[in-house]
Amino acid sequence: MSASAWPLKRVVIAGGGTAGWMAAAAIARTLGHAVELTLVESEEIGTIGVGESTIPPLATFNRLLGIDEAEFMRATQATFKLGIQFENWRVPGEGYFHSFGATGTDHWSAGFQHFWLEGRARGLNRSYDDFCLELKAAEAGRFAHLPGDKMNYAYQLDSGLYARFLRKMAEAEGCRRVEGKIATVELNSESGDIASLVLADGQRIAGDLFLDCTGFRALLMEGALGVGFEDWTHWLPCDRAIAAQTRSVEPAVPFTRAMAHDAGWQWRIPLQHRTGNGIVYCSAFLNDDAAFERFEGVLTGPRLTEPNRLRFKAGARRAQWHRNCIAVGLSGGFMEPLESTSIHLIQRAVLRFLRMLPMGEVSPRDVAEFNEQQMTDMLQIRDFLILHYKATDRRDSAFWRQCAEMPIPDSLEQKMELFRETGRVFRKNEELFAENSWVQVMLGQGIVPRSWHPIATKLEDREMQGLFDNIGGTVARTVAGLPPHADYVAHYCGAAQANAA
Ligand code: FAD
Repeated sequence: MSASAWPLKRVVIAGGGTAGWMAAAAIARTLGHAVELTLVESEEIGTIGVGESTIPPLATFNRLLGIDEAEFMRATQATFKLGIQFENWRVPGEGYFHSFGATGTDHWSAGFQHFWLEGRARGLNRSYDDFCLELKAAEAGRFAHLPGDKMNYAYQLDSGLYARFLRKMAEAEGCRRVEGKIATVELNSESGDIASLVLADGQRIAGDLFLDCTGFRALLMEGALGVGFEDWTHWLPCDRAIAAQTRSVEPAVPFTRAMAHDAGWQWRIPLQHRTGNGIVYCSAFLNDDAAFERFEGVLTGPRLTEPNRLRFKAGARRAQWHRNCIAVGLSGGFMEPLESTSIHLIQRAVLRFLRMLPMGEVSPRDVAEFNEQQMTDMLQIRDFLILHYKATDRRDSAFWRQCAEMPIPDSLEQKMELFRETGRVFRKNEELFAENSWVQVMLGQGIVPRSWHPIATKLEDREMQGLFDNIGGTVARTVAGLPPHADYVAHYCGAAQANAA
């Protein structure tokens, strides 16, 4: 199709945070000059300034955009991430790891957990953790790329620098950036679609399709179109956070820490040049001063930035695509960063939009499909997050007692009870979190299956021992051969300190 016959002429992105620039880079790289792409952002308003921990699909997004990994990591001060260490979630003083990658070797009929459970019942006291390469490498603080992509990983990065990196790319591919404050969103009086953004200085930016990347403000989706918000705070009650960067005082580890406290949790995310810290809490159980004191109390290095105080509400915009506008990023909803899923939802929305690029007029069927797919992702993530709060033995504070007693969505109840009864987990509709993620978190939160697949009972003791020795031995030997993560990062993508924010 020639550019002049292209059905969609003008795409306007409102907002230039991580969402805006991820969208701009992907659209510009994919469609080039076939569309007229404009991004409006306001330096005065700024971005939310948090979002450092990611999950493995981001590597795919970067690859689709033709981004060189080492260059990207250098530009964003990134480190590798092999998973999340959860501390104090089931009970204070204990922890578990949710790692990326597989544990053991599955049989086609039953996941490895069934064999591990059978082995455990026969007295083979091996930790489930021993059979996961990524987990043991993270614990040992080691990392390297392995042949055949055997190591599954994500990144810990400076999202401000990532946006800057993507901006350069998008502008080089033809995206026009407009600096200014959006004062009004004009609707077409006949169709009700968005017609243009009017800036405070009077500029009018007209478009055929708009992406709302204005963050929590949701200026287009909520402000102009009044789409509405589905509130999930009765399941995810944390509603505030304080974040700040500190100087690193130890070599960066290849994992994020999520440490529960009596009314929420705290994160620590090591980058090359600094460490990201934050506290997430429920304001009904912890006041801001007490939260700040707790936050400062666990910082390990001198603070590099002023504390960033944030308020949020867990939930989702009722539609992610409405009329000629698509919500990308925080404008579409938010769930706390416990499993680092927000940037991933941006990626899903952007790639989904490009897959469903309108042929002419926006098709209501495309819109319905987009909304269903995006909402399915959000509901599955929501359930996974609720699991961390619901399946707990903590009763030491009113917050945890409320979490343990809260009714949960049927979809999560089914997953938890199925695992408890049978050890089985099923991944549905291209769910983001694989079976092993659910198994690790459910075991870590104290859900131990009462029974497991009978196929595991077919193994003789000797065969079972051999299987465990073989897998566990391979994991241990591979980890022993890996270099320290910080050395590997310095060699592969060490960033100049001039780049440090
Ligand atoms: P923003 O960064 O808020 O950007 C909004 C943009 O819109 C800005 O450019 C702003 O200037 C512009 N804008 C707004 N109003 C106007 C106007 N009137 N005129 C012109 N421009 C305007 N995600 C992860 O994946 N991993 C994490 O570890 C993680 N941690 C988080 C921790 C916390 C406490 C919170 C709250 C979020 C976290 N997130 C995390 C989510 C992540 O920060 C966001 O998903 C990501 O930054 C995208 O934000 P955004 O671009 O949608 O919004």
